[in-house]
Amino acid sequence: AKDRGKNQYCYYSEDMNARMLEELTLEHELRKAMENNEFELYYQPQYDFVTECIIGNEALIRWHNPFRGTVAPDVFIPIAEETGLILQIGEWVIREACHQNKQWQNQGLAPRPVAVNVSPLQFLQNDFVPKIEKILRETGLEPKYLDLEITESIAMTDINEAVKKVKRLRDLGIQVSIDDFGTGYSSLSNFRDLPINKLKIDRSFISRIHEDSKDAEIVDTIIVMAQKLGLEIIAEGVETKEHMQYLKERNCKIAQGYLFSKPVKALDIEQMLKNNHLL
Ligand code: C2E
Ligand code: CA
Ligand code: CA
Ligand code: CA
Repeated sequence: AKDRGKNQYCYYSEDMNARMLEELTLEHELRKAMENNEFELYYQPQYDFVTECIIGNEALIRWHNPFRGTVAPDVFIPIAEETGLILQIGEWVIREACHQNKQWQNQGLAPRPVAVNVSPLQFLQNDFVPKIEKILRETGLEPKYLDLEITESIAMTDINEAVKKVKRLRDLGIQVSIDDFGTGYSSLSNFRDLPINKLKIDRSFISRIHEDSKDAEIVDTIIVMAQKLGLEIIAEGVETKEHMQYLKERNCKIAQGYLFSKPVKALDIEQMLKNNHLL
């Protein structure tokens, strides 16, 4: 039994070494990915299923690596955050999304905001707001067509700083959303002073509304609270007609999810934006 314990320990540490090596390799490849233009933005429509209109879309990054194939953000964003590479990557994402959105407008498509994910490290940089201003100036996109998705965690570091920064963004006319709402541990009172436009209900709650009454209650509470505070609300991860029906009955009418569309390439969403209706 003692021997076996030793072996297990060995496996465990080999496993750790392998993981560290994998992370180092990923980090090295991520650095090169920036130079080699291996990133692409996919877009997922945000759909008003009552009026049946696409009201906006969210940009979601993909990494096409010649050896690994397409790597999902859940795999590389955490490493990009640990290494600080997210600052470069994130800036590219904002620029690319703003540029693409302006292109669509130039093509005569109805203007709609593009939502961009902002990592906490990015948001906390001193020059975050001027950088955004510069990108808007350079791409010619009006601020109201940019929607920055931040997470609850930013409200937990220095709430006063966060409030000031969100205010500055809102004063410029930029929209600010709280992503994955309900998954963090921040208290609701933290949000009272944060001048945000909307809440996005995390998809983990939506996926269980018909299985777990607690999750259904959380969703109901978030919707009622958002309505009271005059915030817009987007349900994430809407996969079934039942999910949609549930939300409709509670007066929540904007959603993102596979029921409407998966995230797709720019050219593919362009077609959807032209048609405006999904389903
Ligand atoms: P997120 O911001 O919560 O984005 C929603 C994720 O849910 C996306 O995964 C999307 O493809 C997926 N999704 C949408 N609808 C459904 C559905 O109906 N069912 C299911 N099962 N999934 C759905 P994705 O694209 O893999 O992105 C994962 C996460 O990576 C994002 O979660 C976001 O936190 C992060 N991420 C993506 N792009 C960026 C980026 O440009 N910058 C930063 N900082 N983070 C990003
Ligand atoms: Ca998001
Ligand atoms: Ca989310
Ligand atoms: Ca998420």
